[in-house]
Amino acid sequence: MKITAIYDSVESIASSIQNAYIDFSKMTCSVVAIETDVVRDGYPVVGFGFNSNGRYAASGILRERFIPRLLEAEPEALLDDEGLIDPHKAWDLMMSNEKPGGHGERSVAVGVLDMALWDAVAKIEQKPLYQLLADRASRVPDERVWVYAAGGYYYPGKNIDALQDEFRGYLDLGYTVCKMKIGAADLAEDCRRIEAALEVVGSGNLCVDANGRFDLSTAIQYANAMAQYDLFWYEEAGDPLDFEIQAGLAQVYQQPIATGENLFSHQDARNLIRYGGMRCDRDYLQFDCALSYGLVEYYRILSVLNEEGWSSRRVVPHGGHQMSLHIAAGLGLGGNESYPGVFQPFGGFSDELLLAESYVGLPQAPGLGLENKASFKAMLDRAFGHVIQL
Ligand code: MG
Repeated sequence: MKITAIYDSVESIASSIQNAYIDFSKMTCSVVAIETDVVRDGYPVVGFGFNSNGRYAASGILRERFIPRLLEAEPEALLDDEGLIDPHKAWDLMMSNEKPGGHGERSVAVGVLDMALWDAVAKIEQKPLYQLLADRASRVPDERVWVYAAGGYYYPGKNIDALQDEFRGYLDLGYTVCKMKIGAADLAEDCRRIEAALEVVGSGNLCVDANGRFDLSTAIQYANAMAQYDLFWYEEAGDPLDFEIQAGLAQVYQQPIATGENLFSHQDARNLIRYGGMRCDRDYLQFDCALSYGLVEYYRILSVLNEEGWSSRRVVPHGGHQMSLHIAAGLGLGGNESYPGVFQPFGGFSDELLLAESYVGLPQAPGLGLENKASFKAMLDRAFGHVIQL
């Protein structure tokens, strides 16, 4: 088999929301379509990929470096022993002539293409991706995946009643654990917001996320104030690469901590475990394949965690997208983020999936099944309908 064409598009995932660090009014993402010469059901198999929210479209480096490298490769150089495209070989090829370190936007561009390659391979194998991953790992996939509702953003003019209404809506949808943002208000106001949210979701069911805003002393002030609540986790208190803040916080805050969504490589993940004071008996890791060089690199991250004594069940990826849902079920992660209200059409899962007690079922379509979400399919039609048969 071979790749016959690669198309990319820049799409908006703008929302009128903000966290403690950025607003999302101009957020974009890259979407790619990788067309192959393999025919299924009368049409060439096409794999789709995109990057998750929080980083912008990486169209420049996709077009200048990573797409040309894939297209210029000898087709045989990308194949495994069975003649299928091997995303691991494609990864090595894409990353040729790239120096180590300084991951930046590069990890986003590779992650987008990696997702599309896995989608294509699973479609050719005519299996949902989680089944393909589980088969290759000689395990039985999980039947459902734990998800939590990520929201609680600061909106212009949003008050505490609106925050409570938002969380009531998530409980009505079937979520039991919800997440809210902190750090864009002062501590006293954030404590009022937390108490209001706990009234709705119940003790033990609330995550809070500071989006890397705090220095160590502010992180600890919040930790001391929040010690009175039973929180599900306290997320990304300080800068993602400042492991001293993370380690300092872990010394004083006994409840679970979560971080990792802004670490984009297995080397960064290893540094977090080595130097960030994270505790494998209670804390959570949130690396997101769609920002961090894709699933090929995610295998390396999981391998690093295993070497450091961490269970894959402590991993709950950021991003709320269907790629991580497949990885979670196929490789046995602890769950996945979910955005019931924002980052459409990239957040969320296939339309047919049912949610109950904060667990979601799995898609049955071959590949990622992204086309089974009507709003995502409509975006694909707009972006690629003129060049590929959808
Ligand atoms: Mg976060």
